[in-house]
Amino acid sequence: MEGQSLVRLDQTQDDQIILCPTCNTHIALFQDFQSHHRLENGSEGCIFNNVVNVRTDDDPDKRRKTSPFTIADIMCNKCDDILGCKFIDTGGDKAVSAGTFFLFISKLCMWECVETKSVRDKQVESA
Ligand SMILES: [Zn+2]
Repeated sequence: MEGQSLVRLDQTQDDQIILCPTCNTHIALFQDFQSHHRLENGSEGCIFNNVVNVRTDDDPDKRRKTSPFTIADIMCNKCDDILGCKFIDTGGDKAVSAGTFFLFISKLCMWECVETKSVRDKQVESA
């Protein structure tokens, strides 16, 4: 991914940044968090209006169905880790809007989160 510029989000006191768990790239602001959701296949995640530094797999052949949704994988721009998916078609489900992003809870890593202290410590070291 050389030459690709990554967006750095500004962290304020009441605004936590969600990071890629693999490479710590900034992914989303907690203020864009919409709701908590569980897909038909059991994947749990958080829905966000807006994410940065990710790309959507736009190939229509790679879109998947998880009833009632049609989704496409989203990947970290830096490390290619699959972080969640984008809702392409909500199949009429009112809880979710098309074009919003679903980030897997198991992949999320929040800047000021106690559970991810080890990650945070690593960041401090490299700062
Ligand atoms: Zn990453």
